[in-house]
Amino acid sequence: MSLNEDRIVPRGSERRGLRFVIAAAAVVFAGLAIVGALAIGYALAGFAIVTAVAVLTLRPAEEAGIAPPVAVTQRAGESLDVLVAGLPDPVIALDRNGRVLAFNDRARSLAPALRQGEPVSLALRMPELIETIGRAYASGEEQRVEYSERVPIDRWFEVIVVPVKHVTSLVRLDLVLMTFHDLTPLRRVEEMRADFVANASHELRTPLAALSGFIETLQGSARDDAPARERFLPIMQEQARRMARLIDDLLSLSRIELNAHRRPDTPVDLVPIVRQVVDSLQTLARDRGVTLQVEAAKALMVLGDHDELVRVFENLIENALKYGAAGKRVEITLTPGQSADGLPEAGVAVRDFGPGIAPEHLPRLTERFYRVDVRESRAQGGTGLGLALVKHILNRHRGRLLIESKPAAGATFTAYLPAVADSPQPK
Ligand code: ADP
Repeated sequence: MSLNEDRIVPRGSERRGLRFVIAAAAVVFAGLAIVGALAIGYALAGFAIVTAVAVLTLRPAEEAGIAPPVAVTQRAGESLDVLVAGLPDPVIALDRNGRVLAFNDRARSLAPALRQGEPVSLALRMPELIETIGRAYASGEEQRVEYSERVPIDRWFEVIVVPVKHVTSLVRLDLVLMTFHDLTPLRRVEEMRADFVANASHELRTPLAALSGFIETLQGSARDDAPARERFLPIMQEQARRMARLIDDLLSLSRIELNAHRRPDTPVDLVPIVRQVVDSLQTLARDRGVTLQVEAAKALMVLGDHDELVRVFENLIENALKYGAAGKRVEITLTPGQSADGLPEAGVAVRDFGPGIAPEHLPRLTERFYRVDVRESRAQGGTGLGLALVKHILNRHRGRLLIESKPAAGATFTAYLPAVADSPQPK
């Protein structure tokens, strides 16, 4: 890409001045000689002296050996190209007429139709942007505008349009710099936050509405109806518990997110943690007619937060009991292994033999409030936050969750955690 240098650094003014002085001196001294005011010899000498002085004082700066600004010593266009290419955001430089002077690769990937020398409006067909450029020129002040693209994907940008004017006797810079800030990640986070608040409020509103309805009934038509009271109170209690569970899960999520950057550093053994969780869920397992089987190494040491790890295995085993009950059996296997990088790793697999999960749901299961079947989840007392919690806790431990399932063939959820190097191997 090269630039129209004349627009940025015209160097003709010094030469024009020089020519003018020499021509004027020739006319004046010739006139004086012709009218006899000056002898021809003196007239020639005078002309020679004026010409010499003019050449010495008015010749262009680079010829006089004066160090001129960079934009003159190097080719201005190349300088601008180098400058623009080194900037971290997409940048386009325009001349006074809105024609493209220079742009970097990032700007090219944003607007592939950009061509040096062509009006920028051909490549960026956004009237509000073109108006903003006009405003920046007219006011001489920085202007900002936001715009969004829908195709090929949703993206949001803020464009900062800065007029740059630097005019001296040697340099004339008169251009506009457009810098694009990608607001997409920020907007996504904002959208996610808004969705999350909407989902959380909706989840709370449902049991709250049920509770209010029962309270009104008990205050009104069922005031003296003892059998109705007996029926309603357990339902009300369950709705209150559901709200409490949801608030508890929401608080846990935000606490874990707050500590996400701090990796737990206490050595803990996963085997007693999993056995403790299995014991605490035996009543639920019996209610559902499911047998819980544990196969474990002698010890499996990781650096972890005891309570958070209890939460992980509670969620995974409880889900297997709730959604995989039809398989009548849940297997929990604890094994030492190696990560892809060859580092020691502990794996805890929870396998059920229930209906399994269709493949299209697998990538989304750890999203907050994502459920394969909302009605079933609610019936099971689910909040839709269990697997999101599991994922966040494992992330904080620098671990990961693997979900494998085939419809009608059960599901296996495996939590992998970096192990402390000297975990004893299974016998
Ligand atoms: P919930 O509170 O609804 O259980 P989770 O985040 O724990 O929320 O799980 C999300 C969804 O994943 C559940 O609603 C269920 O549809 C599905 N799911 C989780 N575990 C299993 C499993 N073992 N078998 C089948 N589906 C499961």
